[in-house]
Amino acid sequence: MSGRNILVINSGSSSVKFALVNENSDEFPLQGLAERLGSDDAVLNWTFEGEKHVTSLHGATHKEAFERLLPMVQKASHGSLHGIGHRIVHGGAHFTKATQLRPDVIEVIEAAAVLAPLHNPAGLIGVQASLELYPDLPQFAVFDTAFHQTMPDHAFRYAVPEVLYTDHHVRRYGFHGTSHMYVSRKAAEITNLPVEDSCWLIAHLGNGSSTCAVVNGESRDTSMGLTPLEGLVMGTRSGDVDPSLANHLNRTLGWDLAKIETVLTKESGLLGLSGLSNDMRTLLEASAQGNEKATLAIEVFCYRLAKSLASMSCALPRLDGLVFTGGIGENADIVRSKTIGYLPFFNITLDEEANQRCVRGVAGQISAANSTRVLVVPTNEERQIAVETLALLDA
Ligand code: ADP
Repeated sequence: MSGRNILVINSGSSSVKFALVNENSDEFPLQGLAERLGSDDAVLNWTFEGEKHVTSLHGATHKEAFERLLPMVQKASHGSLHGIGHRIVHGGAHFTKATQLRPDVIEVIEAAAVLAPLHNPAGLIGVQASLELYPDLPQFAVFDTAFHQTMPDHAFRYAVPEVLYTDHHVRRYGFHGTSHMYVSRKAAEITNLPVEDSCWLIAHLGNGSSTCAVVNGESRDTSMGLTPLEGLVMGTRSGDVDPSLANHLNRTLGWDLAKIETVLTKESGLLGLSGLSNDMRTLLEASAQGNEKATLAIEVFCYRLAKSLASMSCALPRLDGLVFTGGIGENADIVRSKTIGYLPFFNITLDEEANQRCVRGVAGQISAANSTRVLVVPTNEERQIAVETLALLDA
């Protein structure tokens, strides 16, 4: 296949997600996931030319997983790999765009680990393994936070003593930037509006969820903050709660900070409300069968999403469209219609048939002709990371 090939890597503490992206094709020739790395049941799942494969990686480290990957990447890229793009969660306030992974850059990512103690060190494990195995290839970091560095200070500052911001980096950063950037550009493309003169509200709804106000191609506000816990109800994250909740739980139940963090990040959200699952599909099925807790979880999710979108609209001079993306946003027509039901002043009339049709990767407009525009746009973070990597290769 002609065109340059970029390997996109998303490394977690015990996993490596990867995709080989060719600049001329929307299909990934190779993609997969190495999971449970470091344990006896480590496993590598991958798809090559549409065929699925699985193999045990018994006890493999990240580096060993990369070594297994190497010949596959060689084959899928016909020996012609041009660069590697690594997803890094937190770039702090330092990185406003993707950047080449040099030693000084790695130091700054390490320093930002205080803001993302789970994610940044995990991302760097993948970076180190990949730099050792591909020392001659240009490699880049693409940050979840970078797209939101255009937020004005009245959107990113918390109302806390200034010294916490100036000396301790306490501010709102936002995440899912790669997705919000990709989707807002795609929305402009679909509607024939210039990116640099278009205004969008984006709802990225997956296991983690966030909203974003995008004006002329730039993020002006987003619902996640210092960490990805702020904002919407998510699969297992509470989203916004009264900041005094932590004190209250400590006083009344004796919980320490570690316990409170675990509860709010891993046991709350859709899972906490329903007591059943963090997975929207499971909850929609349970709700259809009369499960009241599942029904409540969905209702809270949609109401809180609508509230967030309404508040995000403060960042827009006008609204060219509301865009749904992510696993839930791309598939759950009921979530879309319920959320819009809570936004009566947005002047939206849904095209119910289009709403039901735009699932499983189908993009399109789901609003009626005379309505405020609503779109479904499947996200493609791997592609966006590859696009940014290619742009840096060309720079
Ligand atoms: P991640 O944030 O991990 O990338 P995804 O974007 O894949 O997650 O989204 C996962 C969510 O999408 C889950 O809650 C899942 O139930 C939901 N989802 C996927 N397919 C459907 C569907 N057909 N209907 C409703 N929800 C769906």
